[in-house]
Amino acid sequence: MVREWTRDDTVGLLPVPTARDDKYTRGVVALRTGSAAYPGAAVLGVEAAWRTGAGYVRYVGGAVDAVLARRPETVAGTDIGDTRVGAWVIGSGTDAAHRSDHEQAALGHILAGSAPVVVDAGALDLADAAVAPVVLTPHAGELARLRGMLDLPDVDLETEDARIAAAAETAERVRATVLLKGARTVVAGPGAESIVVGDAPAWLATAGTGDVLAGILGTLLAANPDRPHTETAAAGAWLHGYAAARASGAVGGAVGHPIVALDVAEALPSAIA
Ligand code: AMP
Ligand code: MG
Repeated sequence: MVREWTRDDTVGLLPVPTARDDKYTRGVVALRTGSAAYPGAAVLGVEAAWRTGAGYVRYVGGAVDAVLARRPETVAGTDIGDTRVGAWVIGSGTDAAHRSDHEQAALGHILAGSAPVVVDAGALDLADAAVAPVVLTPHAGELARLRGMLDLPDVDLETEDARIAAAAETAERVRATVLLKGARTVVAGPGAESIVVGDAPAWLATAGTGDVLAGILGTLLAANPDRPHTETAAAGAWLHGYAAARASGAVGGAVGHPIVALDVAEALPSAIA
């Protein structure tokens, strides 16, 4: 059974502050993303986390200067022991082949914690060892590589049925939520109903939009501690696609126009409204 995710399904997972809230209760997101080679991934994830409605965003990766130049509101530093963190984002804009011992230890500490972790790109190889609940965000190439590392069989990811089956099998194997990115995004979790999120415009297929998605997911996980992670992940993918549709003008049957990843992050507030 496969569920097609909708706008109405998404609305209940979008954080709306109340008078009783403070910046911490609104959701604390921490990112360890980006690198000297890919500082932009850190900027995009941080921007998206803020723009999805986090109350507090902490950044502890290798692109502090770039992050602060774009978003001075961000709390930067080296402390990964902040117990208020409601969700982590790791891996975007990093390369597992160039991971230092220090980085390995920091990521291991994050994955040994109790806060949920969005595991993207260059951290996907670490997911199998996680104690923390994780949401993996591979594209098809990254899923194929991950399946190889897990000794799962090679599969053709061309058809939607095959993508759903591969995501579900990987989710069972890693005991984690798997969000398989693509024109239609598939979300699977151990023992959970698989979800498909459609409607994203093809303009979204541009560098950096996956980093934006990771930041969105961090905020939604921090804001929805009691919701199933497959649903929170699907809501993030839907919001991402909708923000892209609005940013690119691809709404109401219009073809629309090119966008860059930062346009998607900047369109999040109006998409949420
Ligand atoms: P990444 O591969 O990490 O850069 O992420 C790319 C983002 O673009 C993901 O959110 C994908 O779901 C989305 N995407 C990729 N191709 C398409 C497409 N043809 N139509 C709509 N969205 C896409
Ligand atoms: Mg990516």
